[in-house]
Amino acid sequence: MSAPVSLGAEDSATLSGLCRIRHDWTRAEISALFDLSFPELIFRAQSIHRQHFDPTEVQISTLLSIKTGGCPEDCAYCPQSARYDTGVHAEKLMTLDAVLAEARAAKSAGASRFCMGAAWRSPKDRDLEHVCEMVEVVKGLGLETCATLGMLTAAQARQLKRSGLDYYNHNLDTSPEFYGAIITTRVYQDRLQTLEHVRDAGIYVCCGGIVGMGEIRADRIGMIATLASLPVHPESVPINMLVRVAGTPLADQPPLDPFEFVRTIAVARITMPRSVVRLSAGREDMSEETQALCFLAGANSIFYGPKLLTTANPERDRDRVLMDKLGLSPMK
Ligand code: SF4
Repeated sequence: MSAPVSLGAEDSATLSGLCRIRHDWTRAEISALFDLSFPELIFRAQSIHRQHFDPTEVQISTLLSIKTGGCPEDCAYCPQSARYDTGVHAEKLMTLDAVLAEARAAKSAGASRFCMGAAWRSPKDRDLEHVCEMVEVVKGLGLETCATLGMLTAAQARQLKRSGLDYYNHNLDTSPEFYGAIITTRVYQDRLQTLEHVRDAGIYVCCGGIVGMGEIRADRIGMIATLASLPVHPESVPINMLVRVAGTPLADQPPLDPFEFVRTIAVARITMPRSVVRLSAGREDMSEETQALCFLAGANSIFYGPKLLTTANPERDRDRVLMDKLGLSPMK
């Protein structure tokens, strides 16, 4: 049993309803949150969640891989890296019509946001023009748009903004210290730079990470500390549980304790109170009970649909049943 943890005046202010949004979270404070007893942590996260969101609403996004496989990067968790033999083959960029058909289907299934992912280190200008066309037509359907295309220059970010892009996803993945064990083909600073370009272009930021990659708690603390110290918190914070894909270097990684995953969600909720926290990859192998705990801990977004880029995701019907059981409804 851990001793009671003092979190200081700032935290008390947050709980008493003043809820100043902080960008100066220290690792010690975040560590103290992780160390709280589970009931206390969930209570704090749920209390803060209710100050900013309707706890019965869940934002629903659909993710489509518009350009699959053949990526030159070496992200150790990713089946789309050309360096690993995972059975994922390189495909061409999808056509505009095919993307439009998928977006229409996503909208009629209840999605409010349509995310388009491409397995690139960074987009070539010619490819970016095609993606911008896709953004325009998807936006024309009345959906929010999101893209994840790798590293962007400032000019590319502005071009995407002009096409109507609402969100750009670019994850930090893990702590600065553990990053080199997962990716060697670009550095943490590259990631932060792309986030800066996206923010400067006026696009909302979707940025989170992956847990269960063999990192220790200090790395989960470091990741949240980095996210919560950004000058503006990401509007959307996806927290992914590693999907262990055969052929990737992390295929045999032991699974992370689900309670540690829930704790990570809760700490993200407390430190970034106004951000939508997304229960992202890894739901396929997660029990209904763990997912319910994640919603209690302040997760309020999911990806909906049978596939997450190239890995399985719970079927839409399963999600609908779970949401009905929990009395949750799609966020308007
Ligand atoms: S995560 Fe993205 S950048 Fe990394 S290998 Fe996969 S597709 Fe490429």
